[in-house]
Amino acid sequence: MSPAATPPSAAATERANWTEVTAEALYQKLTALASNLWWSWRPEVTQLFRDLDPVRWRQLDHNPISLLREMTPDQVAERANELAMYTRINQAHRRLKEYLTDTTGTWAAREAGVLGARPVAYFSAEFGMHESVPIYSGGLGVLSGDHIKSASGLGLPLVAIGLFYDQGYFKQHLDEEGMQGEEYLNTKVENLPMQPALGKNGKPITVSIDTRGGALKAKVWLMSVGRVRLYLMDCDVEGNSPEDRELTSRLYGGDRRTRIRQELVLGIGGVKALGALGINPGVYHLNEGHSAFAPLEVIHQRMEGDGLSFDDALREVAQNTVFTTHTPVPAGHDRFDADMIEEHLGPLREKLGISHQQLMGLGRVEPQNEGETFCMTVIGLKASRRANAVSALHGVVSRRMWAHLWPWRVEEEIPIGHITNGVHVPSWLAQPMRTLFDKYLPLDWPQRMGDSRVWEGMYNVDPGELWETHNALKLRLLDFTRRRLSRQCRRRGEDEAVVDATRSALDPSALTIGFARRFATYKRADLFLRRMDEIADLVNNENRPVQFIFSGKAHPADEPGKSFIKRIANLRHDPRFAGRVVFVEDYDINVARHMVQGVDVWLNNPRRPLEASGTSGMKAVLNGGLNCSILDGWWAEAYNGNNGFAIGRGTQHVNDDITDERDAQDLFHVLRDEVIPRFYDRDADGLPRAWIDSMVESIATLSGRFSAHRMVTDYVRHCYLPAAGGVSSEMSMR
Ligand SMILES: *Cc1c(COP(=O)(O)O)cnc(C)c1O
Repeated sequence: MSPAATPPSAAATERANWTEVTAEALYQKLTALASNLWWSWRPEVTQLFRDLDPVRWRQLDHNPISLLREMTPDQVAERANELAMYTRINQAHRRLKEYLTDTTGTWAAREAGVLGARPVAYFSAEFGMHESVPIYSGGLGVLSGDHIKSASGLGLPLVAIGLFYDQGYFKQHLDEEGMQGEEYLNTKVENLPMQPALGKNGKPITVSIDTRGGALKAKVWLMSVGRVRLYLMDCDVEGNSPEDRELTSRLYGGDRRTRIRQELVLGIGGVKALGALGINPGVYHLNEGHSAFAPLEVIHQRMEGDGLSFDDALREVAQNTVFTTHTPVPAGHDRFDADMIEEHLGPLREKLGISHQQLMGLGRVEPQNEGETFCMTVIGLKASRRANAVSALHGVVSRRMWAHLWPWRVEEEIPIGHITNGVHVPSWLAQPMRTLFDKYLPLDWPQRMGDSRVWEGMYNVDPGELWETHNALKLRLLDFTRRRLSRQCRRRGEDEAVVDATRSALDPSALTIGFARRFATYKRADLFLRRMDEIADLVNNENRPVQFIFSGKAHPADEPGKSFIKRIANLRHDPRFAGRVVFVEDYDINVARHMVQGVDVWLNNPRRPLEASGTSGMKAVLNGGLNCSILDGWWAEAYNGNNGFAIGRGTQHVNDDITDERDAQDLFHVLRDEVIPRFYDRDADGLPRAWIDSMVESIATLSGRFSAHRMVTDYVRHCYLPAAGGVSSEMSMR
């Protein structure tokens, strides 16, 4: 008999089957890991996916589902075999399972048990959790993402409601002239960690909202973010008109009508979805005004269910509602005219038994004033018993801004408190820095990261070790930046010489300043250009050079914001700045992570007091970056004289141009007289001792206070527990 005809031995068959089973099981475990965004803040799991195929991992925007879909179970098994990954995969999978089933060992199990039966429902128009899930545009979204990740970490019973944008926000490319181009991608649902949300009856849910022009429908997706379930409303369903099917395609796209319909779906649709899911929240947290229609639908439910009058239901619902306002910039407060409100809320208004005037009154500072449009912030404030701003200074500004709503009160007694924003530490912390924290902080620091005392351990850090860790991260940022710059030049079809030059852009030993955020005009990315010649001197100083990395998108309709980008990006044609002031295109969570982890200095120079909080600087803190900022938003309460740098003294002029001129002057002075000397002043070992002291001081004094764990526990204590428990005292958070 020829060997080929030999029947396989029993052992060989078994081995083959075993391999197949293992390959299949392994693949399933990886798929389970990829299906819960928990992986994104677990470095050891992220590393697993990267190891499967480092090149594709990068090309696929770090999306593990796309990556796995490109591979067969056998290919995965082979790769896992090569790299001996079995144990790591099994361990990660077991850890996820343990994490999801731990219901007693969490902070919330001890401190917020009463929320257990009736969870917090957290509404937000955007959620920024990871670059591979593009349903965010900027700070508000990233804050929401960080909020729910921390809620998960703390074991807080919380469900989140948002919108699913299949085209998300846009991808940014600059042309030869530095003009921003916007490209919308179609995100494939199959490549995202979500599935249809099922109702009580086990069937996918569709909600329907009556308007004067007919019903508007939305289906509901479920995304798992650790222990938190995030429900995303999506209007691309049969039964909607072609325009309505595209209603939730893009974030902050379209006109006023698009906006009100999106907000109708988020607020009213979101509450209906919770009902269909059998979730009965004890607290409604409206994160910014976009979702502020929600209380109207809750009122409707209470009137129907408990036979309450509108006024009684409003009082009850307000008791359960928390409202957070996020900006003093007028354009950030949505307003709709009376026709638009009647078209979209008329049918619900009739069920509530109130007149058009009454409804409009809920959205007006002066209810009877027909000249006033309907403002989402106003209804948010009126329909919630607890309202807050997002930093101490923003609290003062917001109380002044909305004082007319409580004309009989003095400004200090306007019932808007503040809870300063924070960031989700595991999401923004670089792995090498985490290793350092593991060494110098108490063992249980990941469970107690919102506690300031935990961070005092940093005062014992070895200065040389901290400095080396930082410099390794800085090199990583410079590598990333050069790679991006060369890709940008290549895409524009520029000369090979230009592409080549990007390889030597930026100097690893030069003081590196990062500036990245949305290019909203009040953030004044171009402020340093008011002192262009002086800054050029700093950049070109032979012994103590400075370099800048910029990144950020302008809203497609924001022409002034686009012109800022153009001016900064075009500095590459100015020999004084070429290779020393660079612009990285397409700012997103990935670019943000690289930048905040690698810069020496994080620059922020908004026009005071318009930056309600700002959060990117908090991310830099965790990684040893020093903030250099106007005393606005969070920095006004964070700066202590030695944990970073202040631009100016926290003043502003009524004339913006004078303010800008003074701030530019102060920016230049603080760079020349404080930042640069402290960075370049080295001891015998070549260490910048005073600088490292500031790094330690910054990490030790700020990491806990500006962590999302601290923020979420504050919300629980000051808002969620009182709102759920019927405690009737007004919030005292000032
Ligand atoms: C943190 C973050 C922001 C917010 O930055 P600010 O400093 O608050 O303006 C915006 N976009 C991305 C991608 C972020 O990660």
